[in-house]
Amino acid sequence: MAKIETRCVHAGYKPGKGEPRQVPIIQSTTFKYETSDQMGRLFDLEDSGYFYTRLQNPTVDITAAQINDLEGGVGAILTSSGQAANLFACVNIAQAGDHIIAANNIYGGTFNLLGVSLAKFGIEVTFLPADSPDAAIEAAIRPNTKLIFGETLSNPGVEVFDIERWAAVAHKNGLPLVVDNTFPTPYLCRPIEWGADIVTHSTTKYIDGHGVSVGGAVVDSGRFPWEKYAGRFPGLTTPDESYHGLTYTKKFGQAAYIVKATTHLMRDLGSTQSPQNAFYLHLGLQTLHLRMKRHSESALQVARWLESRPEVAWVHYPGLESDPHHSLAQKYLPDGCSGVMAFGLKGGRDFENRVLDALKLVTIETHVADCHTCVLHPASHTHRQLSDEQLREAGIAPDLIRLSIGLEAPEDIIADLEQAFKS
Ligand SMILES: *Cc1c(COP(=O)(O)O)cnc(C)c1O
Repeated sequence: MAKIETRCVHAGYKPGKGEPRQVPIIQSTTFKYETSDQMGRLFDLEDSGYFYTRLQNPTVDITAAQINDLEGGVGAILTSSGQAANLFACVNIAQAGDHIIAANNIYGGTFNLLGVSLAKFGIEVTFLPADSPDAAIEAAIRPNTKLIFGETLSNPGVEVFDIERWAAVAHKNGLPLVVDNTFPTPYLCRPIEWGADIVTHSTTKYIDGHGVSVGGAVVDSGRFPWEKYAGRFPGLTTPDESYHGLTYTKKFGQAAYIVKATTHLMRDLGSTQSPQNAFYLHLGLQTLHLRMKRHSESALQVARWLESRPEVAWVHYPGLESDPHHSLAQKYLPDGCSGVMAFGLKGGRDFENRVLDALKLVTIETHVADCHTCVLHPASHTHRQLSDEQLREAGIAPDLIRLSIGLEAPEDIIADLEQAFKS
């Protein structure tokens, strides 16, 4: 197999003679057939083919295939957002009356999705610290538990998830491990290689990389033995009446999970990625390897500088030798830790806000992980309704500033931070 840099550029799309070199945007809701029988067979899942863009579209499929190739999966789908990707990853196998276990340091949006919205759907969630010992994870597993969920690099705490350890506990208990790999992207870490069964993405972040399109992806490793635990996953292993009694594991084998996510969830929930946005993702992926390398190198340089400054109380960036997650980063992220870091300033919230206001190049944004360097102070912005106590419970220090290093010259980013500290 070609190296990942080559696959970033070429995976998913091989044009034939006289076909467009760059991926075409198939901006069409529907597709034409010759006979009634041809169309009927598509609806019975007897033939594969495009018929309606809510389910599948050629541009969207090319980008999904590209992400699938980079992650090393058996199949992938794109979704309208990262939120939709994590929703699909869970409700593809969990329903009312079921239970999920998740690390408690995950992205706030996912924390609410699982803890609030899935609870309303009748799915219970137990949140555990990501460093919980194996015995504590096992103790939380119930007969109705359907999956375990974590984030390779948590947002905004930038803690490294011990994928191999959590996968071992999950597999010993007949459960799949779902890993949100948004920050590392498959260039820096491929969770399937460490035992993850399902990988999700907010492609809105580095995969897009330029801040142009909201999107998500779900990748299926094809490795989880659904049939072995058939009683636990009836949605995959027993007949689906909405497809004339077809059983996903029997008909699609290794790809059962991801086929069901398309043919069942995408059909019914409709969280579709648009062809235009899939095209932007495809463009982003073609330079992913260059960008992630540069984001990581620049972030390490800025993190080292922050660590050396008297104004700075603490810095979390797993690439730093001093970081508590450095050894996990050496294992899972040997080629870099992405551009995202968190730090706190001495001098309280007032001083922090004055520093943010004084920044010129670095902008205040509710976003991370693209080519523009940006900052966010969760306690004053995304989480401002929470008290300091509630913030700590959510794993966010009240003084935490999330800094996302873009593709500018690191010297200019440092110069901007320095003038803001001084002013
Ligand atoms: C942003 C983000 C999400 C949500 O993605 P959207 O595309 O904003 O819906 C999920 N997980 C992580 C780790 C994120 O950073």
